[in-house]
Amino acid sequence: MCGAMTAFEPPQIAPVVQLAEPLFLSQGVSVYMLRLEQTDAVLSGNKPFKLFPNLEMARLTGHNTVLSFGGAWSNHIHALAEAGRRFGFKTFGVIRGDDGMPLTQTLTFAQHCGMTLLRVSREDYRRRDTPEFIDGLRHTHGDFYLIPEGGANLLGVTGCRKLAPLIQRSLEGRRIDEIVLACGTGTTLAGLVSGLHQSMGSAMPHVRGIAVLKGAGFLNRDIKTWLERADTPDVADGWTLETDYHWGGYGRCPPALMQFMRDFECKHGIALDSVYTAKMVSAVFQRIEQGLVEPGKQILLIHTGGLQGR
Ligand SMILES: *Cc1c(COP(=O)(O)O)cnc(C)c1O
Repeated sequence: MCGAMTAFEPPQIAPVVQLAEPLFLSQGVSVYMLRLEQTDAVLSGNKPFKLFPNLEMARLTGHNTVLSFGGAWSNHIHALAEAGRRFGFKTFGVIRGDDGMPLTQTLTFAQHCGMTLLRVSREDYRRRDTPEFIDGLRHTHGDFYLIPEGGANLLGVTGCRKLAPLIQRSLEGRRIDEIVLACGTGTTLAGLVSGLHQSMGSAMPHVRGIAVLKGAGFLNRDIKTWLERADTPDVADGWTLETDYHWGGYGRCPPALMQFMRDFECKHGIALDSVYTAKMVSAVFQRIEQGLVEPGKQILLIHTGGLQGR
């Protein structure tokens, strides 16, 4: 049992690099990147922080099977499949879209890890949180521990608290005023804010989330709710969600964003993904260009991974 507990430890530390750009220099802003995408060959980025506490709970409650949901390129499904293989869980992935298209590389990988893929129509997928749909799955496939799409539950949030000590360790004493990360469900942001508040109180750096989906204003409410459920006192001025950097919506990658990604990779030798991290990094560039970041500020960008989907 003790062995199993240590097996679910997410990474403790990650590389931090400074990004040298004439723009940053001319605006007097220092920008660093936390390379969470380098913490493991496969299970990297933010996903293990959300998954591991759920797998621990699955084991504690006697479940050998874990089921979750995602699209054909889902980083979450990819991570769950690998974690299931490593830690000995049977896994089911309920996949949005049963259009008969050949499997994506993500789904092929998941299948190789031993995950059973259940491809369902977009219509059925929309019913994924209803008791009828879940009962139907249990009836057909037997009992399982359920993790919501994207790992978005309270254990996912509290698991992401561990990002706070990881950041502190990784910074090696550097002062940081603001932390920026990409937001899908907002789970990671809520956990990070909760963890920073636990360890630093009101001295915590500001946390800025860049929403990658269109019309993501509703996430403000979701994040507030997660923070309340995670017993975090009101930290409304400790974080901000930016909703204007989605580039047309989830999964959209116009040519200008693709070009930004290529230029960034070429200049810094750091690969980004088009769904999350490219939008986050380009948002920071835009904000500095527009003079929205005060001179003297030290900013830490979190590279949350996602490179398997490229
Ligand atoms: C899943 C994911 C996110 C979003 O995390 P949330 O907790 O859903 O906000 C950000 N970046 C990458 C690379 C991801 O895979």
